Amino acid sequence: MASTSDIKNVNSSATTQHNSLGRFGQFGGQYVPETLMSALSELETAFYQYRKEPSFQAELQDLLQDYVGRPSPLYFAERLTRHYARPDGTGAQIYLKREDLNHTGAHKINNALAQVLLAKRMGKQRIIAETGAGQHGVATASLCARFGLQCVIYMGSHDMEHQSLNLFQMKLMGAEVRVVEAGMGTLKEATSEAIRDCVTNIETTHYIMGSVIGPHPYPTMARDFQAVIGKETRTQCQEKLGGLPDILLACVGRGSNAIGLFHEFVNEPSVRLIGVESAGEGIDMKKHAATLARGKVGILHGAMSYLLQNDDGQVVETHSISAGLDYPGVGPEHSYLKDIGRAEYYSVTNKQALKAFQRLSQLEGIIPALETAHAIAYLETLCPQLDNSPCVIINCSARGDKDIQTVMI
Ligand SMILES: *Cc1c(COP(=O)(O)O)cnc(C)c1O
Repeated sequence: MASTSDIKNVNSSATTQHNSLGRFGQFGGQYVPETLMSALSELETAFYQYRKEPSFQAELQDLLQDYVGRPSPLYFAERLTRHYARPDGTGAQIYLKREDLNHTGAHKINNALAQVLLAKRMGKQRIIAETGAGQHGVATASLCARFGLQCVIYMGSHDMEHQSLNLFQMKLMGAEVRVVEAGMGTLKEATSEAIRDCVTNIETTHYIMGSVIGPHPYPTMARDFQAVIGKETRTQCQEKLGGLPDILLACVGRGSNAIGLFHEFVNEPSVRLIGVESAGEGIDMKKHAATLARGKVGILHGAMSYLLQNDDGQVVETHSISAGLDYPGVGPEHSYLKDIGRAEYYSVTNKQALKAFQRLSQLEGIIPALETAHAIAYLETLCPQLDNSPCVIINCSARGDKDIQTVMI
């Protein structure tokens, strides 16, 4: 383990580099049963070893390009920009980072691909994952088909009803989809069930968590695998604008597409980082999922972070029109970025997200996922506050095919 901690100390000046306990400030950590500790330690060692290895990087880069379709374009949204322009022609210059154009239609595959390559090197033949909206499940199922690995996806019963397109795709690609009836039948229960499976089948199984949550090393690992989004954005901004962007905007469910865009710019103080959560039916009502706005510090799924809980510390039920945002916790690094004031977090309601879903469809001919629509909706608040013509980059985390049915009802 000595080599692992050496690597972790590199770059320790970066504000979000976790310390040796896998923490971001007080957040993160490894709150897991003893039986999981050796598996986490094995995973941590593999992660720090292989990510430096040229053959791992070569295989990853090759597949990111030819299988996923990277780099994803940075697209100037001309009509959306005109929609928010002031009479004198100034206003936000709005760009979309097109993660919706990735194979399987979302950013999730960036993380899933790199973890499948790790799992293969660790000799694991069986992959499990949880999914909410189904995007992480579809990405994982696709990769397991590609590499001939056994694949089990846990999905809540509520989400299954609303995401039948993704459910069918997972099955078509050979995954076994297990329905989770417990609780609200959403992402939290699916994650708990996948953790249970992992504890039972630890020798053969690698659990690919779909976001920057869970015990260390998952939040760091998923972040580093999603950081390709921000790295490409930096290069593309240099080419198109000759410099840095001014504002980065992304929806925050558990936080991976946002941190993937932000990470490259955390140490660039001129770049504003804005995350948008789901306010559901309204943040002052009971039914929402605005964890960073209304949560208190607690422990869920192996890590300390902000968490929606009652006065007794019980996790409360959440609600969002977006299955991918319907989760009572958030990645620990976001809790840290909020506390140190480096990133700002706001929330928008289901109604506002639906309007933005239509607005982007009608102005740009791009149908976004309902999750993504939360980030787009925040332009309504943000744009009138901005001076001059700053460059605003929105992470277009996924396409909206899966949500057409929900919106039609
Ligand atoms: C999963 C998902 C999200 C939310 O997850 P993060 O980890 O916060 O990125 C957002 N958009 C889409 C399309 C998703 O599938």
